Amino acid sequence: MTSILVRGGTVVTVDRTRRVIEDGAVLLEDGLITQVGKATDVKPEKRAEFEIDAKGMAVLPGLVDTHVHLAQALIRGCADDTSLIDWLQKFVWPLQGNFDAQDGKASAELCMLEMIKSGTTTFLESLLHSRYGLDGIAESLAGCGMRGALSKTVMSLPGYGSEKSIMHPGMIEDGETCLREVETHFKRWNGKADGRIWIWYGARSLGGCTPQLYKQIAEGAARLGTGVTMHLSEVEEDVRYTKKEFGKLPAEFMDQVGLVGPRVVFAHGVWLTESEWAILARKHATVAHCPSSNMKLSSGTARVPEMTKAGVNVGLGCDGGPSNNCYDMIREMKTASLLQKVRTMDPLTTNASTVLEMATIKGARALGLENQIGSIEVGKKADLIVVNLRKPHLTPTFNPVSSIVYAAEGSDVQTTIIEGKIIMENRVVKTLNEDKIIQGASERATRLLERAGVNLASS
Ligand SMILES: [Zn+2]
Repeated sequence: MTSILVRGGTVVTVDRTRRVIEDGAVLLEDGLITQVGKATDVKPEKRAEFEIDAKGMAVLPGLVDTHVHLAQALIRGCADDTSLIDWLQKFVWPLQGNFDAQDGKASAELCMLEMIKSGTTTFLESLLHSRYGLDGIAESLAGCGMRGALSKTVMSLPGYGSEKSIMHPGMIEDGETCLREVETHFKRWNGKADGRIWIWYGARSLGGCTPQLYKQIAEGAARLGTGVTMHLSEVEEDVRYTKKEFGKLPAEFMDQVGLVGPRVVFAHGVWLTESEWAILARKHATVAHCPSSNMKLSSGTARVPEMTKAGVNVGLGCDGGPSNNCYDMIREMKTASLLQKVRTMDPLTTNASTVLEMATIKGARALGLENQIGSIEVGKKADLIVVNLRKPHLTPTFNPVSSIVYAAEGSDVQTTIIEGKIIMENRVVKTLNEDKIIQGASERATRLLERAGVNLASS
C-alpha cells in the first residue's frame, strides 16, 4: 500500500463546511484520502512511506480547469492584440490547420507540464481536431499522471456564427466521420489510465454544426454516457445568429436540440440572459468562465455572481495560449474576482472563497466528479497541491485563501499529487521531461509558423 502523509501545513479543505485547518495533516493511502485533521490527530496505522513537511505551506485540493485548449500551448502569443475574427482567420486557424500529430502531442505535453507546475490536476480539453492526433495526446495524458476529459471536435460546417465558409481548410472535418471518431476514441480511451481519461464530444460553436448534428451529438452522448462541451455565447454574434436562424436565444436553441444537461459544459456564456440561466440551472449544466480570455479578446463580461445566484454551476477556465496566454488557474482566480468587482462596482462580490470554489469543487461538478475530487475529504481521490507561502509576496499570510487568490501565482505550487502519486516534488515534475518538452515545443512552433505562412513581425 502506497501512503503519503502531508503534515504541518494549513489545510484548505473546500469541504461542505469550508474548513481551514491550521497545523493540519492529510493522509493519503492507495490513491485515496483516508484521514484529514489536526496534525496531532492524523495517525497512520503504520509509518507512512513518504512524508511531506508542509510547514509554512497551504494544502489545497488539486485545481480543475474546465476550459483548456491543449493544442494552443504551441501557438502561445501568436495572436495578440487583434480582433476575434482576425485572431481566428489570420492566426489561430491557419496555425492549427497546419498542425500534425507530433505538433499536437508536443503542444499537449507543454500545456500539461504548465498545468502540473501551477496546481491543475484535472482539466476539460474542449476541441481536439483529428489532425492533432488524439491517440498521441491521450498517451501523453496517461503518462503524465493528470486527469483529463479529451473532447473530440464534431463539426460539419466551415462557419463561425453568420460568417459562412471562413474556416481554414486544414480545420474542416465531416460530421459523420467526427461522430464515428468520437466512438472509436471512446472505446479505446474512456476509463483508461486507472480511470483518469474521459472522452467527450467537443461540439463546434454556432455556425459549425447543423441542428441535426447537434441532435446527433446529444444522442451519442446519452448512449455512451459521456459529456459534451461547446463554446456558447462567447460573443454577441452567437445571439444574433440563433435569433436570425432559429428565432431563439443560444441556450434556448441548445435546449431544443437536446444539448443542455448535467454533463454539458458551455465555455464562456458571456451573453447569456436570465431566461437562459434558468434553463441551464434547471438542467444542471455548467458554464466555464474564462475571464482572461474574455478580457483579452474584448468579448464582454460574464455576469458570474448573477448566474450563480440563478443556480448555474460556474467553473473556471484558462482557455488557450493565444487568448490568455497562460494556463495558470491561480492567476485566473484573481482575474475572475477582480473582473466582477469592477463590473459590479461592488468590492464584496466574488470573494476569494467563491473563486476557489469555482476552481475546485464546482469544476469537479462540471465533470460529474464532485463525489470523487474537488475537495480534501476522506474517501475522495488523493488529488492535492501544496503551495509554498514562505515567499516575500505571500508574507504575512493571515488568511491563506485570500493570500493564494490575490497574491500567489502558479509557480508558488511546490508539490502536486494526483491519485496519491507525487507528480511534482519541490517543483520538479517527475512524469515529464521539462527541458526536452520546452526545447521541442520552441522548435516545432518556429517550423509551424513558417509552414502556415504566419509572419508575426508584420502583425
Ligand atoms: Zn476556447
